[in-house]
Amino acid sequence: MFSSINQLPNRIPPSDKPDPKAAQALQEGLGGQFGEMRTMMQYLFQNMNFRGEAKAYQDLLRSIATEEMGHVELISNTINMLLEGASTPMPSDFSNSQLPLSVALDSPNIHHFLVAGQSSRPVDAAGNPWSATYVYDSGNLVLNTLYNLMLEATGRLQKCRLYEMSNNKAYRATVSYLIVRDLAHEKVFAKALETLGVNWNKALPVPKIDTSGMPEVKELESRNLHNQQWTFTAESSGLSKIFNGSSPFDDGGELEAIDGIPPGAPIPNLPDAPQEFASGLDGELKRLTQQVQKMETTGSSRTAASKKK
Ligand code: MN
Ligand code: MN
Repeated sequence: MFSSINQLPNRIPPSDKPDPKAAQALQEGLGGQFGEMRTMMQYLFQNMNFRGEAKAYQDLLRSIATEEMGHVELISNTINMLLEGASTPMPSDFSNSQLPLSVALDSPNIHHFLVAGQSSRPVDAAGNPWSATYVYDSGNLVLNTLYNLMLEATGRLQKCRLYEMSNNKAYRATVSYLIVRDLAHEKVFAKALETLGVNWNKALPVPKIDTSGMPEVKELESRNLHNQQWTFTAESSGLSKIFNGSSPFDDGGELEAIDGIPPGAPIPNLPDAPQEFASGLDGELKRLTQQVQKMETTGSSRTAASKKK
């Protein structure tokens, strides 16, 4: 089972301006064939379906699957941040052609405004719904690990392309973080394959891009974020048996397997958007939810260990 922490893995700075086009580009990183929903589900299934005694490799999958859940959360919140402020407030009347949601007709994904309440969707940048058919789990450890490496490398390639499409601060922060974490995961699977007899020599990483010209990426790499992998569990893990020593790539890095979770960042709380009827709470409804929330903070919940009387 999984526990959750009410934080994001990286801080999202406020976006420079509302940007539905950048939001739509990021949808590929969320619900695309090589996006975060796919990595999350692929590693979860490979972990749950794992057979045999090689438990360190299963631990490794579990850690990365758990990290990917946080990436799904990070990229969804970034899309929401980019959509925030794109529409205009609800007018008191609709004469004088006041159309609070007219932006939807000029946006690449009308569903951001029409189906969702100005927020992310489990779809790719062309609007295709996320598909379970993306998930690869053959049951074969070598094949799965090869495919996982290809998945991380393709994800990184697409994120480097995304980096080139917009310099909106919120967008750049998340894309840069994911470029660096994709590289770290490329290394995890490359290292796992080395323990299974592979020698990479000069083939990796993919893409071979000089990231020293990407200031946000460079800053994250100066913290060694591209050579670190957390276990994302409080229990003992075999991750460090595989992920240790020098980087499998020709970049001189030293790998670090770290117990537990990385430091988190706050999740943005976006205001009500009455023009989208989201959250749709006003007057009496707002009062009722406030009453409930007051109860939550003064009431007490039964702890897991306590017994029913
Ligand atoms: Mn990811
Ligand atoms: Mn990954």
